[in-house]
Amino acid sequence: MSRSVFITGGSRGIGLAVARSFAAAGDRVAVTSRSGEAEEGLLGLKADVTEPEQVEQALAEAEAAHGTVEVVVANAGITLDTPMLRMTENQFEEVLRTNLTGVFTTVRTAVRSMLPARKGRIILVSSALGFLGSPGQTNYAATKAGLLGLARSLVWELGDRNITVNLVAPGIIDTDMTKPLSAARMDGLMRTTPLGRLGTADEVAAAVRFLASEEAGYITGAVLPVGGGIGMGH
Ligand code: NAD
Repeated sequence: MSRSVFITGGSRGIGLAVARSFAAAGDRVAVTSRSGEAEEGLLGLKADVTEPEQVEQALAEAEAAHGTVEVVVANAGITLDTPMLRMTENQFEEVLRTNLTGVFTTVRTAVRSMLPARKGRIILVSSALGFLGSPGQTNYAATKAGLLGLARSLVWELGDRNITVNLVAPGIIDTDMTKPLSAARMDGLMRTTPLGRLGTADEVAAAVRFLASEEAGYITGAVLPVGGGIGMGH
């Protein structure tokens, strides 16, 4: 059955792979990006997740085109890496604004529509590094771990409305986000990844689609690792 799916940060990387995967399965997919552009087959909407009015406008447009949103994937995220002693409050807060407050805004907006429908799937894109910690990423790891508290609180708030909330926790995935990593850092990360390779955005997309599926109806508050064994889910 075709569903109305709303994905933030769908212009490239994991968000785009998730969008393509839902669209290929016949769902009606809206993706937000700061440019508003999207490839054929996806409805592109302009929204910066740090701007609540833009997110609300994008969701309204998605619903006008596709009907009440049934699946929301909060994917948009950034890194701004630097050792903590050199990190400014602005660098810390900029990552929080996108990765944590942006997810709060996205989910709150979507839940307003899901509540009366009494069904919904919410999937937040966290990171294995949120649970392992990562040098130079105090800001990023704090946001990705913070998503767990956000999700599990929502699980309690929305459980009786038949809305599930889960996290995917990707390990090291081959996207623009991991391209700037130094060879030494990448070597270190691969040594702690039992499968010994980067993951693909499509592999993350498959996990997201599972959590959004009918079959995953009794799974909520879970963290699904997609990391080649990095951290073994911790
Ligand atoms: P990416 O940099 O290719 O994609 C990030 C996406 O988020 C882009 O489409 C970007 O435009 C969008 N975005 C960023 N800030 C935004 C904002 N303020 N408003 C709207 N959109 C915004 O990286 P990616 O690897 O595809 O990352 C997607 C998600 O996966 C992120 O949340 C990231 O933290 C997470 N993640 C990535 C990895 C990895 O190894 N690549 C691992 C774990 C988690």
